[in-house]
Amino acid sequence: MYEPVTKEARGTWNWLHCERVEVIEGKPRRVLKTKQGSMGNVLEELINDAERPVQGVSFVKHIVTARWQHRQYSNLKEHLPENWAMMVMDFGQNRKVFYQDDIKAAYYGQMQITMHPFVMYYRQNGTLVRDSMVADQRYHAVEHYLNIASQHLASNMQQVDKEVLWSDGCQSQNKGKGTFADLSLSSDARERNYFGSEHGKGEGDGEIGVVNRAVDQAILGHKVVINSAKDMWGWCCANLASDSMYSKRSFVYVAKDEISRERPETEVTTLKGSRGYHQIQVAAPYKLKVRRVSCFCFPCLLNNNEMCTNATYTGGKLEIKQLSLKAIRNVHARNRKGE
Ligand SMILES: [Zn+2]
Repeated sequence: MYEPVTKEARGTWNWLHCERVEVIEGKPRRVLKTKQGSMGNVLEELINDAERPVQGVSFVKHIVTARWQHRQYSNLKEHLPENWAMMVMDFGQNRKVFYQDDIKAAYYGQMQITMHPFVMYYRQNGTLVRDSMVADQRYHAVEHYLNIASQHLASNMQQVDKEVLWSDGCQSQNKGKGTFADLSLSSDARERNYFGSEHGKGEGDGEIGVVNRAVDQAILGHKVVINSAKDMWGWCCANLASDSMYSKRSFVYVAKDEISRERPETEVTTLKGSRGYHQIQVAAPYKLKVRRVSCFCFPCLLNNNEMCTNATYTGGKLEIKQLSLKAIRNVHARNRKGE
């Protein structure tokens, strides 16, 4: 948030403070400002920053929630029940196509490939399996990739009783109204959990790092020319995929026409207060069960949330929330026309 920089004179301090200021075109931006004052001023500002809510959550509450969520994630991973799967979804990352030879670059131009990493955990013969999957595409389509990952689990596990998803709370990719509609329409075996905002990075980043390093070396060493997401997928399958018993890595290529962009069934109105929910389960289509923080204590694992041993913190029972479909009339109209 801020850090004292230099002590210029006895009793006077300079420090940097992140502040919201108005800039050109009226768009508010956060900038670092140098400030000067006594140690008393520094402390006063620190206490104010820590306790004042930003978007409804104070810094202290934000840190406590992030730590709690991370602890629940680690506990569940360590004691993952048989037939349960955990899936960590990270941001899709773009990779620019580049060539060893300039002439090819001039001919093909610049193109981007989106890599979407999933890291999955499940037990096989009592041992935890780490199974990663990277989807290569030119577009972002989180829900589509999620369904591919889910099919992957179904074909690798004997039985999938529960799919526990973990991601950060980025509204555009993982916590938007469309995501909630998709979740409610999936199955009650699936639930979503959110790391504290911006605290979910790690697992998927590592996978992307491995892929990027290997592909860069191959291109620079003239071992491969990659012009498209499909080229990259082919090379990764041949060189980086692994199917050992407890550590697996696979790649999928998602063709553009596989992704359906017209999905009126997911156009729902905003779920109020969703920023504050970190565990979301399915009750029925367009009906979700939400809780302020996640819990995987013994009663919660058995879906007996009323008996949650952390109820003073979690609130115990999950609250029911109804999603309202915006476009229901349009869907009916289209169906009548037979489009
Ligand atoms: Zn619990």
